[in-house]
Amino acid sequence: MHCPFCRHPDSRVIDSRTTDDGLSIRRRRQCPECGGRFSTVETASLNVIKRSGVIEPFSRDKVVSGVRKACQGRPVTDGDLALLAQRVEEILRRTGSSQIDTNEIGLAILDPLRELDEVAYLRFASVYQAFESLEDFESSIAQLRADHELRASAASEATTD
Ligand SMILES: [Zn+2]
Repeated sequence: MHCPFCRHPDSRVIDSRTTDDGLSIRRRRQCPECGGRFSTVETASLNVIKRSGVIEPFSRDKVVSGVRKACQGRPVTDGDLALLAQRVEEILRRTGSSQIDTNEIGLAILDPLRELDEVAYLRFASVYQAFESLEDFESSIAQLRADHELRASAASEATTD
């Protein structure tokens, strides 16, 4: 990239380090022409295409505000929500695509939210998957119950063996 001071088309990297969350690299650069120093941050790009067609960078804060309402009155802390948003970002980055749509974000939220709080999960899923009737809730709850039983029998098998 061009030197921000003299527009020289080249620069030399004098230091590079990974940020604490491991998601980006910060490089100190020096211009060989004017000696000016500046920093660049390199991040794998992850952009969201909104329903309106507008493209914006992925934001963990928006994930948190998206699920906060579903978590109202539930034993879910801000720390839990921050961790959930981090997991959602990891799931999305693992897909390898640099552009995702809001639908994929909703889908990526479902599993970690279910592990966090099943009531919040049902609330979120009912909006996101546009539940239209009691049957939709019933089948989701039946699925949760089946998973519980599966886990319970796996646990008892583990103890009886
Ligand atoms: Zn320069």
